[in-house]
Amino acid sequence: MDIRLGNGFDVHAFGPGDHVVLCGVRIPHSQGLVGHSDADVGMHTVTDAIYGALARGDIGQHFPPSDPQWKGAASEIFLLHAARLARSMGYDISNIDCTLVCEFPKIGPHAAGMRAELARLLDLDADRVSVKATTSERLGFTGRGEGIACLATAALVKP
Ligand code: MG
Repeated sequence: MDIRLGNGFDVHAFGPGDHVVLCGVRIPHSQGLVGHSDADVGMHTVTDAIYGALARGDIGQHFPPSDPQWKGAASEIFLLHAARLARSMGYDISNIDCTLVCEFPKIGPHAAGMRAELARLLDLDADRVSVKATTSERLGFTGRGEGIACLATAALVKP
């Protein structure tokens, strides 16, 4: 059995807006996230973890931010691409673990919905998808509420 792990990390800054999209879930908020696509920092991070496990570059290589066709794009396009790439290389996604780092919005009430949405897109049991959150104790850019950071791990298995 061939087991591969990949990690992902991403950051998006807050900017004008009235909601954020995190792991496919729209959450009303006093600010939005700045980004070329829909700025779903959670989904970008999980996507990069899958690319990392496959040693197939990163989201910016597959979907260059300089390319206008990805402006405002739904980030599920990126995640589905990574999942299809994994399948085409003979790998199943075993599990995903994703940690959002922010003071606001509060993630807890939305975590189950995020797990369900990632699981739906990846065709996984929700039991194999973890979405959790932490603050940085008001330290650094996440602590000052300047943006949201995210870390993720993906485990892939070739039976
Ligand atoms: Mg990003």
